[in-house]
Amino acid sequence: MTLKLLSFNKSRKAMNEMEKETLPGVTLLGSTGSVGRQTLEVIDLHRNRFQVVALAAWGGHMDLLQEQVNRFRPPLVVVGDPSKAQGISLPSETQLLTGIEGMVKAATHTKTKVVVAAMVGISGLTAVYEALKMGKRVALANKETLVAGGQVIMNLVKKGTGELIPVDSEHSALFQCLMGHSKKDVKHLWLTASGGPFLDLSSEDMTNVSPSMALAHPVWNMGPKITIDSATLMNKGLEVIEAHWLFSIDPSHIRVVIHPQGVIHSLVEFKDGALLAQMGPPDMRVPISYALGFPERLKSGVKPLDLTRCPPLTFQEPDFKRFPLLHLAYEALKMGGTTPTALNAANEMAVEAFLAEKITFPQLPQVVEGVLKDWQSTPADSLETVKEADQDARYKAQKLIKQITNS
Ligand code: MG
Repeated sequence: MTLKLLSFNKSRKAMNEMEKETLPGVTLLGSTGSVGRQTLEVIDLHRNRFQVVALAAWGGHMDLLQEQVNRFRPPLVVVGDPSKAQGISLPSETQLLTGIEGMVKAATHTKTKVVVAAMVGISGLTAVYEALKMGKRVALANKETLVAGGQVIMNLVKKGTGELIPVDSEHSALFQCLMGHSKKDVKHLWLTASGGPFLDLSSEDMTNVSPSMALAHPVWNMGPKITIDSATLMNKGLEVIEAHWLFSIDPSHIRVVIHPQGVIHSLVEFKDGALLAQMGPPDMRVPISYALGFPERLKSGVKPLDLTRCPPLTFQEPDFKRFPLLHLAYEALKMGGTTPTALNAANEMAVEAFLAEKITFPQLPQVVEGVLKDWQSTPADSLETVKEADQDARYKAQKLIKQITNS
């Protein structure tokens, strides 16, 4: 009897394993970041629906990656920085890879159906490109990929079988509001912005802003790079560029409105005067679960918004003078070619320097403006051109940061 029960349990375990094998695979690039952690929370609610094929992290939070590996036991783990990979202990069946090549292998794994691209900065560009080329669905949280390489990525989406679903909350909102509508009926896309912690701060007071002040975002809980970008409104500038590529809408039809409560995630204005908005609590698990399950809506674990307890919703125009990076993002998009690539690279370098207390808050736009001033734009139509422009702009930004630090 015991023996029979044992073999029954064994065969059931084998069946469970087989069933798990056939579930759609998810590769998670940037698993230890804010979006990465929340993606695993959503997947945890749907363990009978998805299998985690690969977890990839750059190397900042190895203890957390270890916990995630123990919990999800993926066949593949990638650590971007090879020097950080030694400390991790893996199940015998799990393979360990490193570097950008490892990220690409994870993104193109045969079992992977969906790649959640949640890494920071341009580091995800190659992996996203290769995943789309292989016909995967990319749930894109990494906006820098589209800002730097929008044309290359969208050409691939238009020509191939790959699918790009936005995870950025504003773009997920626009994606949902545009569903079932024709682009010719759209008058404006309205991106909402919380305004960040310095919405009402004067230009003079911005001189005294420290990294810790800028890292305290009033609405969203996010990683350091995007939180600084939210404080300068560059995040919204990058999102304007992201929206242009995702929805192929001219920059003159993309508007930004400050909405500090973060309840409306974005709106579409149609020619007839109708405005469609997507609302909800400011919680990334909603756009993450939408991108994973699309076109189906999955449970996200998020408590819905109680409209009767919702604060009054307010809206105001953004101040382009106090937040010059938003203006620079529009300018870069108008100039086109590799200019947005340069904008993004210069901004990444400036944010790093600000967090390291090498430059002040008002010097962030100075670095970006300095790089764009003499920028020789070329068509950004290949991955190589984009990568070269990125490196070139980083070099120029580094030089400017040194000049500022030494003066
Ligand atoms: Mg956003």
